[in-house]
Amino acid sequence: MNNTGSSVLLIYTGGTIGMKEDPETQTLRPFDFGSLMDEVPELKKFAMRIDSYTFDPLIDSSDIEPAMWKKLAEIISRNYKHYDGFVVLHGTDTMAYSASALSFMLENLGKSVIFTGSQLPVGRLRTDGKENLISAIEIAGAKTIDGKPMVPEVCVFFNSLLLRGNRCTKVDAEGFDAFRSPNLAPLAEAGIEIRYNTDLIRRQVNGVFRAHYGLDTRVSILKVHPGITSQVVEDILLGPLTRAVIIETYGCGNAPSKDWFLEIVRESVRRGKILLDVTQCLRGQVNMERYATGRALKDAGVLSGGDITTESALAKLFFLMGNTDDNEYVKECLEADLRGEMSN
Ligand code: ASP
Repeated sequence: MNNTGSSVLLIYTGGTIGMKEDPETQTLRPFDFGSLMDEVPELKKFAMRIDSYTFDPLIDSSDIEPAMWKKLAEIISRNYKHYDGFVVLHGTDTMAYSASALSFMLENLGKSVIFTGSQLPVGRLRTDGKENLISAIEIAGAKTIDGKPMVPEVCVFFNSLLLRGNRCTKVDAEGFDAFRSPNLAPLAEAGIEIRYNTDLIRRQVNGVFRAHYGLDTRVSILKVHPGITSQVVEDILLGPLTRAVIIETYGCGNAPSKDWFLEIVRESVRRGKILLDVTQCLRGQVNMERYATGRALKDAGVLSGGDITTESALAKLFFLMGNTDDNEYVKECLEADLRGEMSN
């Protein structure tokens, strides 16, 4: 594989990678892209065309909103024909959400969209940002022997691992090894060479690329825990403004089996809400047939999220609900694997 002559668009949204310390407050704030390029002169060594687009304002990713996902999808769509791949510089805090969202919004993707960032700003001596940025660009520009993009997927590259975007999650608040996709092996690992796990990489097979912009954010998350009260469960499951709820359950999809809990679940389903069971565990999947407590949820009309992450479940619901008012159709699609986000 090769990337000489490739072209990559670098989209800079903000995040630690491009932050500098404010001398007055000692907090990290984003700085402009020109400085980022000065900090990484190595980029000039690439035999590729690297152009950039900078968000204005630059943001800490804790402030990311679906409107910015639309903007990202729009930038990629507008530039789709002009570049071989895209690198999105993004804060790590919500990177898994954004990568998941873009994976659904960009249908029949035939080019790489690689999210990356860092735990230390790129200007710091021990930064992880340079390595992440350089490898992400290399991957975004990589092509197969027949000249096709090597990884036509939305991914996260972090600390030598290339992970499918809608499978990953941030697992470390401080360490450089901050992302994992616990239910799917990395799509590539960067060592002396970048080794691609070609069997796992999804290829654009049917249809032409298309961006979707509809997102319906009427989703809540209910994390079950010992001591949870009926008031809290009611507020979330019966909330009038909520169209769907992700229930973060124990183990393989279990929740309290108390009558009051199941009665609220049933009432929520009766009111037409979409309820999705996603496990709180990092690894493994929901199996609502294994225990009576999980079975009770299934009988009440809760759908299984399989091994989907919460980040991906949220993005998938936003996307599906944003594209149809038909809840039955949303439910059908929820249990199907659309972009490699779930194991079959
Ligand atoms: N708060 C930062 C952000 O997500 C953290 C980071 O970039 O690592 O934008």
